[in-house]
Amino acid sequence: MTAGWVEVGDRVFVRRHRELDLNCGLVVGMSGCLVVDTRSHLGEGRALAEAVRAVTPHPWAVVNTHAHYDHCFGNAAFRPADVWAHRRCVAELAGTAEQQRAHAVRDLLAAGDPAAQLVAMAPVDLPDHLVDDAAVLDVGGRAVQLRHHGRGHTGADLVVAVDDVVFAGDLVEEGAPPAMDDAFPLEWAATLTRLLAEVRGPVVPGHGAVVDAAFVAAQRDELAQLARWLTRQGTAPVFDELTRSVALARVRVPP
Ligand SMILES: [Zn+2]
Repeated sequence: MTAGWVEVGDRVFVRRHRELDLNCGLVVGMSGCLVVDTRSHLGEGRALAEAVRAVTPHPWAVVNTHAHYDHCFGNAAFRPADVWAHRRCVAELAGTAEQQRAHAVRDLLAAGDPAAQLVAMAPVDLPDHLVDDAAVLDVGGRAVQLRHHGRGHTGADLVVAVDDVVFAGDLVEEGAPPAMDDAFPLEWAATLTRLLAEVRGPVVPGHGAVVDAAFVAAQRDELAQLARWLTRQGTAPVFDELTRSVALARVRVPP
């Protein structure tokens, strides 16, 4: 292990952080590298950048798997660099960053965590290289696939695939229930079914331990059960705040 990185594929690394149990990824090519997600604030982003430099001197590009602060508030630490994301991720981040910041700062303050101040000051650095359904990046001679399989954890989740490793962002979560706050629970299971079609080996969730196809299938089945329940309640067409909180409870305590 170097600087906290664990190699899960040929020159494909995962760095799992104590903070929020967040995973970041690193793909190293012959003359370039790709960083998957950038953590919660500039200080964490810089620490991640330093950890990348312990592995490779190559220039980097960045992918944000989605618009949640813990995956992208460290972006500025990597500039100048191309920052890739789904096209809708930019609007989601621009529209929600300050609300996300307020919630995160409130929770960190309540926990007595000094990171509150750092999240409060983190610059919102919007992705500028945008993907609709799919793109292939040349990462120093290696082909890396970016794919949007449909809405799920958010409206703009991107999956990063290289060789047999898939970085799923928060479409897959280990160690905690899937986070529903900005989710599309009626569509999430179908999105995971499409994601599963490209799983050949390890799946790196946005948070928690690296998992496999069987884990993703089990989470998909749980989300499908939730969607059926929501539909039976007649709440499917209008997924309002009340429904969302019920869904949240439902996912936390599956029937
Ligand atoms: Zn998220």
